[in-house]
Amino acid sequence: MTQYVYRFGGGVDDGGKNGVTGDKTLLGGKGANLDGMAAIGLPVPPGFTITTEMCTRYYADGETYPDSLRDEVANGIAHIEGVTGNGFGSTDNPLLVSVRSGARVSMPGMMDTVLNLGLNDDTVEALARVSGDERFAWDSYRRFIQMYSDVVLGLDHSRFEDALEIIKEDNGYYLDTELGADQWRALVGEYKRLVEEEWGKPFPQDVHEQLWGAISAVFGSWQSERAKVYRRLNAIPGEWGTAVNVQAMVFGNMGDTSATGVAFTRNPADGTRAYYGEYLINAQGEDVVAGIRTPQYLTKAAREEANAKPLSMEEAMPETYGELARVFDLLETHYRDMQDIEFTVERGKLWMLQTRSGKRTAKAALKMAVDMAQEGLITEEEAVARVEASALDQLLHPTLDPDAARDVLTKGLPASPGAASGIIVFDADTAEKRANAGDDVILVRIETSPEDIHGMHAAKGILTARGGMTSHAAVVARGMGRPCVSGAGSISIDNAAKMMRIGNRELPEGTIITIDGASGEVMAGEVPTVQPELAGDFGTLMAWADKVRRLKVRTNAETPADCRTAREFGAEGIGLCRTEHMFFDAARITAVRQMILAEDEAGRRAALAKLLPEQRKDFTQIFEVMAGLPVTIRLLDPPLHEFLPHQEHEFADVAAATGVSVDQLKRRANELHEFNPMLGHRGCRLGVTYPEIYEMQARAIFEAALDVQKASGEAPIPEVMIPLVATAREFDLMKAVVDKTAEAVFAERGERIGYLVGTMIELPRAALMAGDIAKSAEFFSFGTNDLTQTTLGVSRDDAGRFLVQYVDKGIFATDPFVSIDVEGVGQLIEIAAERGRATRPAIKLGICGEHGGDPASIAFCEATDLDYVSASPYRVPIARLAAAQAALKSRKS
Ligand code: ADP
Ligand code: MG
Ligand code: MG
Repeated sequence: MTQYVYRFGGGVDDGGKNGVTGDKTLLGGKGANLDGMAAIGLPVPPGFTITTEMCTRYYADGETYPDSLRDEVANGIAHIEGVTGNGFGSTDNPLLVSVRSGARVSMPGMMDTVLNLGLNDDTVEALARVSGDERFAWDSYRRFIQMYSDVVLGLDHSRFEDALEIIKEDNGYYLDTELGADQWRALVGEYKRLVEEEWGKPFPQDVHEQLWGAISAVFGSWQSERAKVYRRLNAIPGEWGTAVNVQAMVFGNMGDTSATGVAFTRNPADGTRAYYGEYLINAQGEDVVAGIRTPQYLTKAAREEANAKPLSMEEAMPETYGELARVFDLLETHYRDMQDIEFTVERGKLWMLQTRSGKRTAKAALKMAVDMAQEGLITEEEAVARVEASALDQLLHPTLDPDAARDVLTKGLPASPGAASGIIVFDADTAEKRANAGDDVILVRIETSPEDIHGMHAAKGILTARGGMTSHAAVVARGMGRPCVSGAGSISIDNAAKMMRIGNRELPEGTIITIDGASGEVMAGEVPTVQPELAGDFGTLMAWADKVRRLKVRTNAETPADCRTAREFGAEGIGLCRTEHMFFDAARITAVRQMILAEDEAGRRAALAKLLPEQRKDFTQIFEVMAGLPVTIRLLDPPLHEFLPHQEHEFADVAAATGVSVDQLKRRANELHEFNPMLGHRGCRLGVTYPEIYEMQARAIFEAALDVQKASGEAPIPEVMIPLVATAREFDLMKAVVDKTAEAVFAERGERIGYLVGTMIELPRAALMAGDIAKSAEFFSFGTNDLTQTTLGVSRDDAGRFLVQYVDKGIFATDPFVSIDVEGVGQLIEIAAERGRATRPAIKLGICGEHGGDPASIAFCEATDLDYVSASPYRVPIARLAAAQAALKSRKS
């Protein structure tokens, strides 16, 4: 029979009985690490974990439990009772527990924790007696009713909050901690009345009913909207499931020698090796992150730096702090990574409630990885494996220009570094809407909650009025790589008027501001930025990555500026230089239109003659930057119709240039109209019908290459790429045009250079016929954007309407335009690679298209043994790191 309950604490270690401490797949991250901490002898309240397998089975069985689970849970409760000496539901010495969700990876979309479960009208009296603290007992009970009502019963929590506010106002209190036992008792009465009114039944008094209600709520939350959104954004599979952790309560709200806190073993914002965190005296659980009371600093140094008065934990509880610091070091060595820790102090005794590898900014991830390798805690290769490749994005983008003028409106906490400018909006839906419409958005909230995730994702930056460095906004923003300023207390937000006020300045929705998540500054308008520093830790890690990388990394670029950026980022060539953008240039478009609208070859050649010197100039500039490196140039690809004139004056320009009447041009434009341009007259079909176009482009390429060779002594290596080939014959015809032109140019100049002619594989037929095509094609570049469109029969531009649902419903694991559909499109790539190599063993294989900068797709390219990937310039370092990580992984397996 499958075991679904694993106990921990008090010397029992079910999770480690096979020699493995805490398996995250089975126990979830939280459960695995509670088990792990208990196993190495740290003070962890005893408890048990119901496995993720149970969650999966729960859904498979129509949201029911197997009978055996009742016994297993009863056994788990008995274990906690045995260790603590308390009884669940006992009116002498009641056991209280927390019920906590915990997936394999931490998921803010999941159920909130229920604390103090096991309290009812009788046990609360008993708790008051045994603790000798009535205030504490009733404070715990009111917390429990509120959390349970919100999280398990799903009642609207605002009425509960209002009831508390009223009591505070009536008594002239500012803080929750000012309320006494009688007031908490009165609030409990009010809460129970509210529950009955809203839920239609009295608050459950049976502790077992409470427990099962909470367990089901955790499993239920796995399919909540928030959780689904989070899974979609983070590519977490729906079948993973969550575990449930049930654990004895320890109490941080037992007066001034009790406290609760969160801490990081290193600074998660910049990576510095210093303990970092916050704590609150006489408080429980979420109080620290809820932003109701301002938490105090953990260390003296941090308090002094912030110029804060309230004592740090290091000063207020020196002994407990000392013990905590020892635990930090122990955990870091044990897990060999920076830890994010939750703890509680109950009457001076330290209890550990959670540890996990802490979320960090890219900057911190980089610094920590390099530091830890240099400290000898991890190896260089582990350091390479540790920095999430796509997170490098945060480091490669500009930061605020230190010399630029700043109109500083206010200052909050530097919660997540990076600078962002954009228009302010006050809710997540608007943020998403405006971002989709193309605006840069700064989401401004009093405090964020998991419901805001989609808006935070859509925003360029996040600003909150409340909450500390470990608030929801701060943690999520750091995880997402969004700049964030939190706790900017001088901001007042008027949601109804869609307006924020800072001092006497009013900023309505849509006003542009800039936030600097490194300093906490909030500024009016847009502040200019400067390029990032690529030496230092970044350079060190990249050098380590390059040592293990097998795949070459090229770039997709078509301007000299982009080429230069890409080279600075380490590009080893160009994998895709599109030529159509050059045609859109204002100075050339009329000649391009003249070419398209020409009635015959002579007309086209006349227009092409005007384009040749321009096109040669383009290539010369690119070759100068890329001298000595391979440059793949794709001949003209897009549907001609994209270049057609639309406006009257555009027709007039072409008429003036050619002497053909506007009417005649319009008739011709009409003839060229296409119903489905993506599958129309484009790609090599243009070259087949109008070979003179490709001839002109080939001439421009070879003349430019010879010019650059002459001027610099170093030639680039042109790789001429024929797009949208479906048959070998098509390719052969086009290759003949290129070869013939090359020979003509070489003869005219009396000089030669080496070059290759190959094709893009972007049609399923080409992939299948790759063996044939490879007879004359010297390289394949997988154009995975179009290959995905043509394999799935889905147009990328129209997929937005349904793709989200396809991912939600698990039809696609991820967006196939972001990450290669390995099963389908990937199979075609494998087939093409295999058949191409069978014909021509040395054929060069690479991938261009967006996927070339996507780490998961890069891992696929490594597994398929391609020669290179090609990514946009800013993604080149990401691709280098991802390629190294893929190499490390394949070496292991
Ligand atoms: P999250 O996943 O949102 O961090 P947790 O399950 O860690 O939720 O619970 C949140 C907080 O509740 C913890 O940081 C801790 O302060 C408090 N908490 C959870 N379990 C207990 C417990 N057994 N005793 C005391 N406090 C607890
Ligand atoms: Mg937690
Ligand atoms: Mg294409």
